[in-house]
Amino acid sequence: MKLVFDISKPGRSSQILPECDVPEVMPDAAFLRQSAPALPEIPEVEVDRHYNELAQEVFGVCDGFYPLGSCTMKYSPKVNETIAALPGFAKIHPLQPAESAQGALQVMSELSSALAEITGMDAVSLQPAAGAHGEYTGLLLIREYHLSRGDTARTKIIVPDSAHGTNPASSVMAGFEVVNVVSNAEGGVDLDGLREAVGPDTAGLMLTNPNTLGLFDPNITEICKIIHEAGGLCYYDGANLNPIMGVMRPGDMGFDCVHVNLHKTFSTPHGGGGPGAGPVGCKELLAKFLPTPVVIDSEGRFELSRPESSLGRMKAFYGNFSVMVKALAYIKVLGAEGIAETAKASALNANYMMRKLDDLYFMPYGQAPCMHEFVMDIAPLEHETGCSAMDVAKRLLDFGMHAPTMYFPLIVHEALMVEPTETESRENLDRAIEVLRQIWQECHDDPEFVKASPHDAAIGRPDEVTAARHPVVRWIPEA
Ligand SMILES: *Cc1c(COP(=O)(O)O)cnc(C)c1O
Repeated sequence: MKLVFDISKPGRSSQILPECDVPEVMPDAAFLRQSAPALPEIPEVEVDRHYNELAQEVFGVCDGFYPLGSCTMKYSPKVNETIAALPGFAKIHPLQPAESAQGALQVMSELSSALAEITGMDAVSLQPAAGAHGEYTGLLLIREYHLSRGDTARTKIIVPDSAHGTNPASSVMAGFEVVNVVSNAEGGVDLDGLREAVGPDTAGLMLTNPNTLGLFDPNITEICKIIHEAGGLCYYDGANLNPIMGVMRPGDMGFDCVHVNLHKTFSTPHGGGGPGAGPVGCKELLAKFLPTPVVIDSEGRFELSRPESSLGRMKAFYGNFSVMVKALAYIKVLGAEGIAETAKASALNANYMMRKLDDLYFMPYGQAPCMHEFVMDIAPLEHETGCSAMDVAKRLLDFGMHAPTMYFPLIVHEALMVEPTETESRENLDRAIEVLRQIWQECHDDPEFVKASPHDAAIGRPDEVTAARHPVVRWIPEA
């Protein structure tokens, strides 16, 4: 399709700007641009059609089944968007005095308390803008903790091999060295390997539980104990909180610090770059290091305050406020019972799909019940038919379904990681099961047809390496 710049014709602009209602002030000449900006000039109806066409080229959770594992692409209630867009929330200024923004501060205070309750933590910072940003913040808290005690030898973070890729990356960014521990045959952390890995240089452990195989590690309290006895702290990657919220708490498992992804679990749509939020919760021993400011409730009046030994700011102002409004609305509507019900339904849906497919597809960790997602290994199917995980994923697109996460976790070579989420109905799950079973049959009957898929998409199989390494994201006018 054409770019908005390609359909532009000089003089066809549709801009009707309101009159300026503040005094006009010209900036210094040094700040004035030398030439007019190259803005497209298009009548309003063409702008409308252009964006509609764009919207039809993409696939979102409102178009169909979107089982992208580890991403929790569930439906986010639209009413929360309306609430976040109320002028009282959307039009406040971050530099407004606290007395004039009490409602906004109350939202932040109530959300912090709710997240502390859900995660089993004592204090929360809402500042981080994403999951990985939360990880980085939490690791800095752990670093500050050790340094404040004069313990400079703790330079290593232990990360299991089933971790999300952001975990080792955040550890390195926070100045730590990463020590990998391998998984045991059940997909959990190998306890003997962990005991060997810890020592006086252990700053902490980073763990996702349920992990990226969709499995809850039954040894979790023992794992935390091993780390604590070695003098380290435990960080919980809570991006996968969806199947355990309201049922079990990272704080009770023994973790000292956690982030959650509001844009996965708590009603902010995602994919496409945000905004999101990755609040960090911590136990009392880390609270004084939290980013500044935090909101405190002093007898019904809300104030911004700097924690005693704050590590500073992680983001301008207070974080992504509109995302916080949506999360609080979601939590309040569901309530404690609804949150637990949501979690259980996400696990039920994943187990239902896994069991309806495991006679055809190989589930390498399918012995135990899964949590919110399960991993299929396409290697045996590829061996029989030549069709890979990529081919199965591409063929799904022809049925109006998004592909699952592919080739992740890395410990399963031809992985397809399926997370159906709790917002899909029984009928939708049955349809997805039927389609996956049909694709399995097609792989056997006509593998070339599957390998040539998708047959109906605007873009079929792009050069993904070039797209990732050399993306063209800017239109540059011809000179
Ligand atoms: C999504 C995810 C993250 C990272 O979250 P972002 O908001 O994308 O930075 C970290 N860990 C796990 C397990 C995740 O699923």
